[in-house]
Amino acid sequence: MSRISFQVKEVQEFLRKHGRVYTVRIDGRQEGKVSIYFGRRKVAEGVVTRVGSVTSKTLEDCVPFSGFKNVRDWKEKIDKIFLHKGLTDDLYRNLAIYEVRVIDWCNDSWFDSVFHCPVPGCNFKSSTLSTVKIHFKVNHREYFNFCPICKVRVNVVHHAHRKADEPHLVLFYLLRSGRAGRTELYAKAEKVAERLLSNGFKFGGDFNV
Ligand SMILES: [Zn+2]
Ligand SMILES: [Zn+2]
Repeated sequence: MSRISFQVKEVQEFLRKHGRVYTVRIDGRQEGKVSIYFGRRKVAEGVVTRVGSVTSKTLEDCVPFSGFKNVRDWKEKIDKIFLHKGLTDDLYRNLAIYEVRVIDWCNDSWFDSVFHCPVPGCNFKSSTLSTVKIHFKVNHREYFNFCPICKVRVNVVHHAHRKADEPHLVLFYLLRSGRAGRTELYAKAEKVAERLLSNGFKFGGDFNV
């Protein structure tokens, strides 16, 4: 498996918090599964995907997910790592932007909070809410069509949207795609999920799907 390492504190923090980050690397690196390191310490398993070449436009688009405050700071870092060492020219022709997404954190003892999967009997936990979300979508697909709170077969996203009490908001958060669902309700659901899942909330009861 290939590996990718992050040295910049702010970028490490961003990845810890959000479970994904955009980063500039030499173009042509291996995509797919990757071991993620903070310095020399392995912290997670993840997936790396090429996003695009490095231009003013793509840096501008990607900077909110880079861990850097602005493009100037980001460019400064890129120059320090690549340009000043002669690894690229000032048009960054042999660099590319990659997305790194965490699938599983190695160890959460060094995080303040731990978020638990709310499915009864599932012991998955992670230091980031977004990783629980990815886990949930991959491992508990049955809940797209089955509400574990009401125990009915429904389109759960619509159903949870309509009910909108706290347990249903957790479900809504876990199933809704963040990018498409940046609504007020989604923001509220995220807050509720953050609070409940860090307290080990479970959907409750035994049930067969
Ligand atoms: Zn689970
Ligand atoms: Zn329900």
